[in-house]
Amino acid sequence: MINRREFLETVAAAAAVPMLVTQDAANEWGSPVFDLHFHLRPQPASNLAHLDGAGVTKANLLTRGAALDQMKALQARAPGRFTWFTSYDVTKSDAEQVLTQAVKNGAQGFGEMKFHVAADGPELRRMYALAADLRVPILIHFQEVDHVPNEGTWSTGFAKTFESVLKAYPRTTFVGHADAFWANVSADYHNEAVYPTGRIERGGVTDKWLGDYANLFGDTSAVSANTALARDPEFTADFLKRHQDKLLFGSDCSCTDGHGAGYNNPAAPWMTGKCVARETLGVLKRSTSPVIVQKIVWGNAHKMLRIPA
Ligand SMILES: [Zn+2]
Ligand SMILES: [Zn+2]
Repeated sequence: MINRREFLETVAAAAAVPMLVTQDAANEWGSPVFDLHFHLRPQPASNLAHLDGAGVTKANLLTRGAALDQMKALQARAPGRFTWFTSYDVTKSDAEQVLTQAVKNGAQGFGEMKFHVAADGPELRRMYALAADLRVPILIHFQEVDHVPNEGTWSTGFAKTFESVLKAYPRTTFVGHADAFWANVSADYHNEAVYPTGRIERGGVTDKWLGDYANLFGDTSAVSANTALARDPEFTADFLKRHQDKLLFGSDCSCTDGHGAGYNNPAAPWMTGKCVARETLGVLKRSTSPVIVQKIVWGNAHKMLRIPA
């Protein structure tokens, strides 16, 4: 016999949709998934639509400027499914103050940092030092080649100068992302293509520095990482094995439903109508063991953010 209180508890449990989603997600990808690189969308429901559609359990929301109210609303609506990073124009004089306040308000990292400044310039150096002081990771967009004419460049000089940054800020946790970071897994890259393809030449600086520097990590988001991981399967299997503790899954996907609806990147027409999260989760799943997949798509992010898995 079920009494009234038990009945109500059963009803409440059945209404806890996020738990059911978690179960499904674990089945689809062989592991629950944490998306480190998900840009906050204005409507709470549109954030959840992408997670649920792509089989993603939790996501880290990348925000810029004032986002606290939105974060609170989303966390109230889907408890336990969202963490957040903060960013702010690094050329402004109050950047340190604003970012420090956001961390006090609950932001767990800086990112994404995407500004038209040099990777080793004074604006970002202030942020590297601050991230170390506040004990939060800093996620950086590195791009040297336009997707569309006159788009501009971001955090420039990665291949030439970033090793000096890694040496100068040993207490800072750096998360590399975007075109220049991922194209430089191959030693033959010299800023020719946005998304280089074909066999990888061993010895690229990104690969080397992930091995040499404890403070460098990489997120597998966007078409840049997807292309880099898909272009040379033999290399990728070895790369994922060697850097299994240094890579964190991210999507950077802008599709609406977690199945590719509305995805359109002018520099990557072959991805039109595809979900970047799904495509990259697929590459990871077919390139390495279930144990390594679980680290990259789930465990490593929890370790970095010091949250329970
Ligand atoms: Zn980016
Ligand atoms: Zn998507």
